[in-house]
Amino acid sequence: MKIKVLADSVINQIAAGEVVDRPSGVVRELVDNAIDAGATDIFVTLQGGGHSRLRVRDNGSGMAKDDAILAFERHATSKVSVIEDLTGIQTMGFRGEALASIAAVSKVHLRTRSTDSEVGTQVSYRGGKLISVQSLAWSQGTEVEVEHLFFNTPARRKFLKSPKSEISRIRTWLAHSSLAHPSVRYRLVSDGDELLNVRPVESVAERAKDIFSADLIPCQLEEGGIRVEAMVSHPGEAISDTSGLVILVNGRLVVDKIVMRAIKEGFDSMLKDREFPVGYVSLELGGEFVDVNVHPQKSEVRFRHPNQVFAVVRGAVLAGIRTLKRPVVASFPVKTVEVGSSPVAVGLDFSEVSQGSRGVEGPPPIQTFQGGGQSISLFEDGNVLRSPDESYVVETQSLGNARPQKKVENCVDSEFSFSTLRYVGQILGCYLLCEWRDSFVAVDMHAAHERVNYSAIREAYSRKDVVQQPLLIPQTITLPYEQVVNLMEQLEMVAALGFEIVERAAGSIEVRAVPSVLSHVDCVSLVKELAAEPVSEGWRERVEERIDHIAARIACHASVRSGDTLTRQEAYALFDQLDKVAVSGACPHGRPVVAQFSREAIERWFGRDR
Ligand code: ADP
Ligand code: MG
Repeated sequence: MKIKVLADSVINQIAAGEVVDRPSGVVRELVDNAIDAGATDIFVTLQGGGHSRLRVRDNGSGMAKDDAILAFERHATSKVSVIEDLTGIQTMGFRGEALASIAAVSKVHLRTRSTDSEVGTQVSYRGGKLISVQSLAWSQGTEVEVEHLFFNTPARRKFLKSPKSEISRIRTWLAHSSLAHPSVRYRLVSDGDELLNVRPVESVAERAKDIFSADLIPCQLEEGGIRVEAMVSHPGEAISDTSGLVILVNGRLVVDKIVMRAIKEGFDSMLKDREFPVGYVSLELGGEFVDVNVHPQKSEVRFRHPNQVFAVVRGAVLAGIRTLKRPVVASFPVKTVEVGSSPVAVGLDFSEVSQGSRGVEGPPPIQTFQGGGQSISLFEDGNVLRSPDESYVVETQSLGNARPQKKVENCVDSEFSFSTLRYVGQILGCYLLCEWRDSFVAVDMHAAHERVNYSAIREAYSRKDVVQQPLLIPQTITLPYEQVVNLMEQLEMVAALGFEIVERAAGSIEVRAVPSVLSHVDCVSLVKELAAEPVSEGWRERVEERIDHIAARIACHASVRSGDTLTRQEAYALFDQLDKVAVSGACPHGRPVVAQFSREAIERWFGRDR
């Protein structure tokens, strides 16, 4: 076989596969270029999900004629010239590959005019070949129009996803990118429908309000030159994948496992393995501590001190979550019940909200969050988007990207405290109904008690002050052999939380003492649960996490259960205790403790607002 050096056109086609593998990749590169050109207005148009045509228009610096032609050369870039430039680079692009790669696999027209050119230029490429350069009248800025993407690479074309999924991907990416650049207006129109329109705002936090429908908890921490600013959703709003979580590193949108894990750990025991919050985490650190050139699509970075990054992100989220004291504002869809021929009665339908964003096995989250009356959600289908400026009101299209419908209610009062509740009574064996100012409030008594117990257990553990209750008659429990081994592996932790357990004959253990919170309950089922639970690989590196988990289990068993009756005094005592714990808004498993129903919501149910 003879070795040949590949022609540039072939090299570009091969490289195109790495840089742009689908329409969303093309949009990403073109929007990044617009940002780098200082644009304040970016307008993306799609036809057929971008497969047949896509266009990105900006009002940035534009290019003079020569540059417009040169821009399509491989490794042609205005952003770096010596290798040192890569350290601390501010621009989104720097590899000079995007335009060359896109041009290699499509038909492209670039129209542009720079401030100091009198007239604009149009440069057209087809399959990597320059086909024309023309002058044209053009306002300042650049438009790149891409047609027939992958027309000359049929193999790639075959693997393209459906237009619907591509549109949804592009919309999500644009929304996330808009977080990184809050002062830029982003618009997306697909086959004539406006899917996104966010106006310029001052800060990432403000942009987040326009993008996420959830009520987000602000988190912040600065340590050792790393600054973390984040807004994350209530653990009760967790979803089963990472699609709603945006990570920004020095303003760059990235995917990063370390940051992701740190966020999860920041939630303490409140998220299950496959649960993730919605929101964003933005890190700022010196350019010398992060390498941005580790991925052809620039979607990953490498930290010089990953452990430090981990600690600061975790600390920031933890601190934010600790402030979680207020109730979750609830609003349930109202269903009209037909009685006879006319609709007269009104019932609440919990099914729609409780099918939930968590995985199938998760407990049903029934709460939704406030949005200050101005949230818009980019991730829900068929919702009317609301933003503070009514001129930006748009209707989202159904993109088949199923998310539970959530209604957004008015704002929660930050002065909320449990001890100021007026207790009315207990219903359905589990909920404590109360009145608070102009609203009615329901407290999940099990979740509330669990939270109080959990805090007490954790605090006693940290102070090394766990109170143990010896059992009058030690309990012997028979277990499968592997479970005995499993339990004995974790003996140190279980002991630190107040248990005294010894191994007897093969397949049996004896419980001699329990944490005092468990003195009034049967400990057998809890011990069996702990023994049966498979402990994930590598838990030894995450002992604290495991301790949290066991503490949450103990708290659960020690708490009042659905069906128990609480006296008024007990209810008020519980409220007082809730005010004393650090996090009272969610139970250790992340379920909301308290839901608030506004007078307006109630009036709406009864049609009093009409
Ligand atoms: P990179 O962004 O890595 O430099 P690209 O292939 O994406 O590489 O772009 C090549 C060059 O073309 C850029 O460095 C920039 O100078 C110019 N360019 C591309 N898009 C635009 C645009 N929208 N506005 C102004 N200049 C642009
Ligand atoms: Mg670029």
